[in-house]
Amino acid sequence: MFIDEATIRVFAGDGGNGCVAFRREKFVPRGGPSGGDGGRGGSVYLESSENLNTLLKFRYNPEFRAERGGHGEGSDCHGRDGEDLVITVPVGTVALDPATREMLWDFSAAGQRFLAARGGHGGRGNARFATSTHQAPRTAEPGQPGEKRELLLELKLLADVGLVGFPNVGKSSLISRLSAARPRIADYPFTTLEPCLGVVALDEERSFVMADIPGLIAGAHEGRGLGDRFLKHLERTRVLLHLIDVAEHSGRDPVEDYATIMKELVNFSPTVAAKPMLMVASRVDAVGDSHRLFTLREFCRAEGLELHEISSVTGEGLEELKRALWKKLAETPKIPAADERIPATFRNPTL
Ligand code: GDP
Repeated sequence: MFIDEATIRVFAGDGGNGCVAFRREKFVPRGGPSGGDGGRGGSVYLESSENLNTLLKFRYNPEFRAERGGHGEGSDCHGRDGEDLVITVPVGTVALDPATREMLWDFSAAGQRFLAARGGHGGRGNARFATSTHQAPRTAEPGQPGEKRELLLELKLLADVGLVGFPNVGKSSLISRLSAARPRIADYPFTTLEPCLGVVALDEERSFVMADIPGLIAGAHEGRGLGDRFLKHLERTRVLLHLIDVAEHSGRDPVEDYATIMKELVNFSPTVAAKPMLMVASRVDAVGDSHRLFTLREFCRAEGLELHEISSVTGEGLEELKRALWKKLAETPKIPAADERIPATFRNPTL
């Protein structure tokens, strides 16, 4: 299981101060008190959205402040209310108290709102303190401070993109080159075959998870060392990225490599093998006389496969590849996440 985590701090706005003022009009001596109330401070809400996949944006920006309320003014003018701040989080996010790990909110569907910090009340102006016996009060209240709080957000991640290919074709290099962050790996049933994964970002809002699928070849489909959970995990992958090494010294035949991997995939799981797939010619910086690359190009053209040529060393083709993957993901429906919540056992502090 992959878990993305982020700690954020939220600050609601303070209430505005009440005002002390007296009416001053020509020919009206001793006009009464006219200080208005302060405005309410803005509150901070978290709201779940289908359009986010990871908690990456919170690493860039972990602090959120709602607007404070305006102060009251003379002539009974009420201060302006501060605007509320709404922070979007991906569906599936769980908000916890960082100290106790108590669960505060579980965003199980899109459009749910959680009041994370309440804005402070505005103070009353002196107009409110006038009584029949005390007609010229000089008292007004200060605004109340807005709530502030630290929240731990957790999200169980699914690998949106699964990498397949022979060992040493450059899968982990590609992941580390593209990753903006590495999620925590929890509860993996096998220790020797820990998947390599990373969060890939196009920008702050658009990100996806890419994972290597370890030990796929050489009998992996027989399930040696791989738990059911691993297979299930793979089945949740939406797009496959198939890497073929075209470097000169590899001495490999790209078309044969493709066929071998596809055969393993089908044996492993026909559902996985049928996923939308992009092809990658890897290590193009070391292509030498290029005949492997030409063969692969020809083959992909004939088979109607989309081919990207990349090098994790020079960075060639990586931006285009990121965009192409995002496009493919956008075209591929999300798998319902109902049973993909973090089970309660993983929320306890001993983890
Ligand atoms: P994996 O087993 O598929 O994860 O492959 P790795 O990412 O570990 O890469 C295998 C070897 O190829 C390593 O020695 C890398 O440094 C090298 N490598 C990876 N990507 C490139 C590349 O784009 N160009 C070159 N020249 N070497 C690469």
